[in-house]
Formats: sequence, structure tokens, C-alpha cells
Amino acid sequence: MRRVAIVGAGPSGLYAAGQLATQTDVEVAVDIYDRLPTPFGLLRYGVAPDHESVKSVAKTLAAAFDSPHVRYFGLVEVGTQVRPAQLLECYDAVIYAYGSENDRKLGIPGETELDGSRSAREFVSWYSGHPDAHAQDLDTVRNAVVVGVGNVAVDVTRILLKDPEELSVTDMPESVLAELRRTHVENVWLVGRRGPENASFTNKELRELLELDGVDTELVGADLTAIDVDLLDRKARSNVESIAAAIAEPKQGKRHLHLVFNHRPVAIKGVEGVTGVEFESNLDGSRFEVPADLVLRSIGYFGNPLPGVPFADGRIPNLEGRVTEEDGSSRPGEYVTGWIKRGPSGLIGANRKDSAETVAHLVADLQQMPQRVLADPEELLVERGIKASSLADWRRIDEAEIARGDLRGRERTKIEAWHDLLDLVFAEQEEAVG
Ligand code: FAD
Ligand code: NAP
Repeated sequence: MRRVAIVGAGPSGLYAAGQLATQTDVEVAVDIYDRLPTPFGLLRYGVAPDHESVKSVAKTLAAAFDSPHVRYFGLVEVGTQVRPAQLLECYDAVIYAYGSENDRKLGIPGETELDGSRSAREFVSWYSGHPDAHAQDLDTVRNAVVVGVGNVAVDVTRILLKDPEELSVTDMPESVLAELRRTHVENVWLVGRRGPENASFTNKELRELLELDGVDTELVGADLTAIDVDLLDRKARSNVESIAAAIAEPKQGKRHLHLVFNHRPVAIKGVEGVTGVEFESNLDGSRFEVPADLVLRSIGYFGNPLPGVPFADGRIPNLEGRVTEEDGSSRPGEYVTGWIKRGPSGLIGANRKDSAETVAHLVADLQQMPQRVLADPEELLVERGIKASSLADWRRIDEAEIARGDLRGRERTKIEAWHDLLDLVFAEQEEAVG
């Protein structure tokens, strides 16, 4: 039986595992490595908690674990704890599926040094209950600026403006809900550097934002009547029409959404903490400033390199999923899928097709690949002093979250603290040893 390691248990890694487990050309055993004891990547720690129907994709992805030939090694960070080259000694092939865990920077004064200026990624990680996320102190936030007009920007803006009681039915950790209940956000400026017809958010997500209860909408920096909607594609046209409809029938809201287009931030102002943001028009160079206590840059995620693995522009260079060297030749045994293959864009479903392409090449290659004597991955982990978590450990976390949710009449309440997750993992392991 051939052995394949997958680095990352997000949608792309799990689609690949499922596809490998169900194909019939080559017998394959699959080990999935993730630095977390919890699978699902951004489906768990990115997709907004109030988008419950998307979260249900987890059931489809978890089908990969039904195969007796698929194992889960959680709490293993590839790159720091185990090097890719060591994995290649234990497996016929390795698929990198570790996503894009970094973010882009604006490169403007105040961005990195002022309290209250951070990435949307950090904010999303916090409200999603990622164990690495730092607590957010939101009770003094009245005015927030979100830079970028993609779907992530819309998600964070919605979470800031939505009535926390409406979020209390979701899987958000209790600590997050408690903090959101302390907020008094009055204004959010959502800022795009191009016009509304070029925004990358999708219309369903935009409308959900425009339809929030108690939130009115103002348009800044764009003249919708100057846009010829007949020349636009369907998404752009419906976005422009939705904004036009929202401003034509103003709501009386206590909270205000300011949709700013054709502007870019030039400086984040403040001494220790953020106090304002200055914008410049990309059309006529004019400037204006708004007060702000929080600035979230939402201008795209970005991949991290792994030692010894080719890396360029935040991705692993590849030809249809086969990792390539600078000269375009492929690296035997190394494959890639998901955001770290394509870059940080695309919905969950896009990863299924992407993984299918990678897996098809891998399966074809495995049939030609000479057999090697492989090292034992479990021995490698022992040598490296790593105690990996298993699928059973994840199932215990899963059950504990469902039980927490049940107490409050919800489907699930996430466990966000490392110590609580590790207690659930190691309690059982200690019992087994004892
Ligand atoms: P990820 O989901 O990022 O998975 C990567 C996995 O690798 C993670 O589990 C991580 O812990 C692990 N990992 C990282 N580094 C290492 C390492 N060194 N060693 C071991 N493991 C590692 N799509 C939709 O269809 N609908 C939505 O509503 C939606 N909302 C989104 C909201 C946000 C905020 C974001 C950022 C994206 C959203 N998406 C949504 C897009 C979707 O989440 C992505 O398409 C998808 O998650 C990408 O999958 P991936 O497997 O490539 O990466
Ligand atoms: P995105 O869609 O690529 O949006 C990034 C935004 O940042 C764009 O508006 C871009 O503007 C802007 N930007 C980039 N660099 C900038 C700069 N230097 N200054 C100012 N603005 C800058 O990325 P995303 O929002 O991070 O989303 C990632 C993917 O996840 C997308 O495919 C998205 O659809 C998906 N997602 C889906 C959902 C959902 O379905 N509900 C939710 C969240 C995320 P320009 O266009 O001008 O470059």
C-alpha cells in the first residue's frame, strides 16, 4: 500500500483525503497532519458563525475520516516541529494543503505600531474562537474603519454592526459573545480603493449587510448615476443596484455604515492607540479624515513558506498541483492544493475541483513511482518528542462543544482556549497510559 501525507486539514486537504480514499487505481493510506487538534481549517476558523448553512459542509468533508486508511495527526506543525524533508522519508508523496495563514499589509504610517490597528484575519480568528487568537477589547470602540471591499471585509463589518443577540444562537465562544455585548459601535467605514462596480464582495453578502436591522447606509466617493450598469457583469451590476436601492430608501438607524469607494488610506493617526484614518481620493487626490478607534485591514490573506519547499508570491509554485522548481521541472513526491496552491481566493467548493486535479496527477504518478523503503512516521514523531492528537481526540472536542451548546439551546459552542482543548486531548491519553 502506498503512503501519502497531507499537510493541513482544511477543506482542500480533506477533499484530497476523501478523493484519495475513494479512488480505486492505487491502494493508498493517508495521514493528515494539522497544527491544530481540530480539523476543517477556515471552515471552522474563517467562515462567519452566522453562516450556519456553509458550516454544514463539515459533514461532507468529514466523510474522509470514515475510511479506515485515513488517520489524523493533530498538534503537529510542519515546518517547525517536523520538516517536509522528514515527511518525504516516511511517505511516497506529500500534499501541501496548509492554506494562507498570513495577511497583506498596507504599508502606511501607523499600521503596525498603533493599538487598534490590526488585520481582519486576527479579528476573524478571535470571533471564530481560534486558540491562537488574542482577546479583543471592543468596549471603547465607537468608530471602526475596514479597508478592502471583499467578502471578508463584509463579514467583519457585519459582525461589528449586527445586534449581538442575533449572534447568540451561533457557535461563537461565550467570551466572544460577552465582548460583543459590551460594544457600542456607531460607525463603520468600509473602504474600497476602486469604484462599487469593482468591489469583490458578492451580492448576497452585500445585501445581508445592507439589510441589517438598525443600520443605515451612506455612500461616499462614488456617483452611481455615472456607472453604466448595462456594461457590467451580473455581480457588479447587482452590487451597484443593491447600493442604489439602499441609499434611495434610507433607514433610521442608530448605527451607520459608510460605504466609501475610490479612496485609499494614507495614514492611520494616533499616539498609542488609533484615533483616526486619513484617506485620499484615487480620482482627484482630495483628502478627508474620519475618527476611528479600530482599523481592520481586509486586503487579502497571504501564504507562509515551508523550509526547503519552493515558494513565490505567497504560494507554492506548481503545474496543476505538482510542485515545481524555478526552472519549471516538477519535484518528485511533492504536491499542493487549496489556497497555498492557487492563492487566497475562492469559495470552499473551488477546493474540491482543485484537489481533484492534484489527486489525479498524484494517483497517475504513484502508479509509476518505484517502491522505496519508507521510515515510520510514528517513530519520527516519537523521536521529535511530539505527542500528536488523533481523530478520537477531535471527536471528544466535538462532543464537548455540542454539550456546551446544548446547555444554551444552541447546536454548538466553540471551545476557544488552548488549555481546554489540550485538557480534552491529553486527559484521555493519560488515562490510556495510566
Ligand atoms: P485552510 O482552510 O486555511 O486550511 C489550512 C489548514 O492547514 C488549517 O487547518 C491549518 O491549521 C493547517 N496548517 C497551516 N499551517 C500548518 C502547518 N505549518 N503545519 C500543519 N498544519 C498547518 N468560502 C465559502 O465558500 N463560504 C464562506 O462563507 C467563506 N467564508 C470565509 C471567511 C473567511 C474569513 C475566509 C478567510 C475565507 C472564507 N471562505 C469562504 C473561503 C474558504 O474558507 C477557503 O476557500 C478554504 O478554507 C481554503 O481551504 P484550504 O484548505 O486551502 O486552507
Ligand atoms: P478578496 O475578495 O480578494 O478582497 C480583497 C480586497 O482587498 C479587495 O477589495 C481589494 O481591492 C482590496 N485590496 C487589496 N490590496 C489593497 C490595498 N493595498 N489597499 C486597499 N485595498 C486593497 O479577498 P477576501 O475578502 O480576503 O476573501 C478571500 C476569499 O474568501 C474570496 O474568494 C472570498 O469570496 C472568500 N470569502 C467568501 C465569503 C462568503 O462567501 N460569504 C466570506 C469571506 C470570504 P482590489 O479589488 O482593488 O484589489
